[in-house]
Amino acid sequence: MKTDAFPYAFFQGKIVPIEDAKISIMTNGLQYGIGFFGGIRGYYNEQKKHISMFRIDDHFKRFTNAAKILGGELPYTQEELKKITLELVEKNTPQTNFYIRLYGYISHTKLSPNLTDARFDFNSYMIPLEEYMPMGKGLSLLVSSWQRINDNSISTLAKASGGYINSALARKEANENGYDEAILLNKFGNVAEGSAENIFIVRDGTLITPGFSEGVLEGITRKSVIEIAQDVGIEVIERPIPRSELYIADEAFLTGTACQVAWIEKIDNRVIGSGKIGTITEKLKEKFFAAVKGDDDQYAQWCTKIKIK
Ligand code: PMP
Repeated sequence: MKTDAFPYAFFQGKIVPIEDAKISIMTNGLQYGIGFFGGIRGYYNEQKKHISMFRIDDHFKRFTNAAKILGGELPYTQEELKKITLELVEKNTPQTNFYIRLYGYISHTKLSPNLTDARFDFNSYMIPLEEYMPMGKGLSLLVSSWQRINDNSISTLAKASGGYINSALARKEANENGYDEAILLNKFGNVAEGSAENIFIVRDGTLITPGFSEGVLEGITRKSVIEIAQDVGIEVIERPIPRSELYIADEAFLTGTACQVAWIEKIDNRVIGSGKIGTITEKLKEKFFAAVKGDDDQYAQWCTKIKIK
């Protein structure tokens, strides 16, 4: 993937050429992973020459909440961050689907991990993004031997950079053993989520996903899929899911900004349901894609549209 497809980044208070957005190797956020991030998708509509950005306010709310959880301050308000982001998108004039990364981090170079009187620096850049997970097939997942971090070790509600070592270890184990992705169990031994995705199963027509006390991220795609399901009359339950319930689910899928809605064919080599995409998954996926692209008026409030000249 070309990372320089979008020539501008937001760095140290202004929009600069991406090659000038460089930090020192001594940076505290780099050395100890003391930072947090966010990521928003933008969908390019070639006919209408606009970009539709998905649930941008929810993303900034979660991003600013992460600063609060870590007990520090960002130099911008939620509204200012939104303005900066929209300016950066316009400056990069995207003509492709993309992902914009938001990053808050400790930028000083002092030795030792330190969040006392923390002031986070903020930067942002964009990359083209189509498929993150293979979309043309069902996913094959492995229940990881790595346990999902818990909220009393590293907050599970903040997308805390250092916490993603946990995700990377699980993903490595899955990929090196021929699986597309990992499912992490939590400290109770129940299902938590994928390395960067929430998980849903369907049983007897009911949609089930672990609640937040199971150590899952407050996924914005998760929230959207729950709302869509309720709008079409599907019952949704948030409750713990024991590992072996995964194997006997009728349907299962992952949700996330990057993977969107991705159906699961196998978990630990057990075929899920019929081994094909399930009817509920298919319906939710279809409605989700229409919503993110700004093609469904019912969810127009989720999309921020930007005209591309
Ligand atoms: N869980 C984790 C650990 C994640 O990193 C992500 C990606 N942000 C998700 C779930 C999905 O969240 P969202 O739908 O907001 O992208």
